[in-house]
Amino acid sequence: MAEQPMLKFVNIDRDMPEKRPPDLRRTDFKEIYAEYADAKAKEQASRCSQCGVPYCQSHCPLHNNIPDWLRLTAEGRLQEAYEISQATNTFPEICGRICPQDRLCEGNCVIEQSGHGTVTIGSVEKYITDTAWEEGWVLPIKPREERTESVGIIGAGPGGLAAADVLRRQGVQVTIYDRYDRAGGLLTYGIPGFKLEKDVVMRRNEQLEQGGVKFELNCNVGEDISFADIRAKHEAVIIATGVYKSREIQAPGVGVPGLERAIDFLKASNRKSFGDTVEEFDSGRLNAEGKRVVVIGGGDTAMDCVRTSIRQGAESVKCLYRRDRANMPGSQREVANAEEEGVQFEWLTAPKGFVGDPVTGVMVQKMRLGAPDATGRQAPEVIEGADYVEDADLVIMALGFEPEDLPTLWGEADLPVNRWGTIKADYVTGATELDGVYAVGDIVRGASLVVWAIKDGRDCAEAILERFDSESMMAAE
Ligand code: FAD
Ligand code: SF4
Ligand code: SF4
Repeated sequence: MAEQPMLKFVNIDRDMPEKRPPDLRRTDFKEIYAEYADAKAKEQASRCSQCGVPYCQSHCPLHNNIPDWLRLTAEGRLQEAYEISQATNTFPEICGRICPQDRLCEGNCVIEQSGHGTVTIGSVEKYITDTAWEEGWVLPIKPREERTESVGIIGAGPGGLAAADVLRRQGVQVTIYDRYDRAGGLLTYGIPGFKLEKDVVMRRNEQLEQGGVKFELNCNVGEDISFADIRAKHEAVIIATGVYKSREIQAPGVGVPGLERAIDFLKASNRKSFGDTVEEFDSGRLNAEGKRVVVIGGGDTAMDCVRTSIRQGAESVKCLYRRDRANMPGSQREVANAEEEGVQFEWLTAPKGFVGDPVTGVMVQKMRLGAPDATGRQAPEVIEGADYVEDADLVIMALGFEPEDLPTLWGEADLPVNRWGTIKADYVTGATELDGVYAVGDIVRGASLVVWAIKDGRDCAEAILERFDSESMMAAE
């Protein structure tokens, strides 16, 4: 009888790809996890118990067919595994690297709940598509026939790119407008290389360009071209501009040199990784080298800032967060990685002000967790009389992001936004109240995740295709 290739979780332990030692990874911006060797990927995929009701799949925003591609990987049928994986996910190798799997697919894997350690879904997903690229299975986009309709997409982040991919495969004429000089949005200029190496993103941009997607880069909509002009040029427009306004705090000392926004710091660092000349970095302003760095915040952006500071050669790196470790929004995996690399976390602390001009320290107040608030989360309260000064030469604010005021910036008072400034759009199709105008990703959800932006982009593109089809059928009648 043939050997049963699956259900090996009883005898085989969970094993993530090898992590580079902290001393080595502190010195560069390369990804910290190695690729699985072929045999290891097969072995880890074979741990899956092929659940009849796969909770991993229902908790993946893209509803990836995880059990099937795990089985095919375990059987060595990698090209088929790739075909199934890419059928629901535009960028599987990117999600495999940076999805917070502990909160999504892997966090809901049943064998974890039976005490055996979750199947390493993300690492296998990454392995399948990295192999597909190496083997030449990732083919250029070649629509069967060209269509006359065109779609303008504002924003070349994962939401915009995923929509472009789906539309272009069906022959739609697609132009993406972005104010940056490279496509990718936060994949390119937010998320650091140690989580997502830049050539992984650039090869996807090239694939889209080679498939006929037109990129209008260095094009700030609202300045270089008006929103009205884009609407006039295309049958449909997708707004995928993300959220970029940094949340600020009001406190004594805000505004002195040495206080920087996380997004500026990360963008400068990512640009340096591309080999660009970055004046703000070269002048030392956005360079942590030799400095005592304090990062304020407890989300993924803060984690990326502390770990970038370490790699830039900071003298010390501390992270202040007003709740405790168990109640932070950032991924626990990233906190553990940061600690291994030498970051010090000061839990239950909040900034009260800043001393020095330029900054020499942060006035810190100690906090404790009080009664749960309306959301059920314990609210942090100040412990009176326990303040102290944390020395710092560079303070990086990573307090979250809000949408820019698009109706004002674009002179489009009719653009439907809610009271937080995010665009009001149908959650499935992305359609707004403006005819032919759609919106996807962070500009609809608020700061979210890459995988959700991909899902929105794909769903919106499908809705636009349906609309084009029904319009052309009506025209033919
Ligand atoms: P974006 O990726 O923000 O792209 C928007 C694009 O629109 C940008 O290229 C911008 O230049 C362009 N744009 C904006 N306004 C205009 C305009 N007026 N004219 C022309 N172009 C414009 N998510 C994860 O899943 N895992 C992670 O590990 C993770 N880490 C993160 C780390 C950081 C530092 C940050 C900030 C976010 C992180 N996220 C992570 C969140 C994730 O990056 C976003 O949810 C995702 O990129 C949103 O995609 P998007 O397409 O909506 O927008
Ligand atoms: Fe898990 Fe993200 Fe892949 Fe879905 S896309 S299977 S959530 S890693
Ligand atoms: Fe396999 Fe876990 Fe998904 Fe079940 S929940 S199908 S064991 S990966």
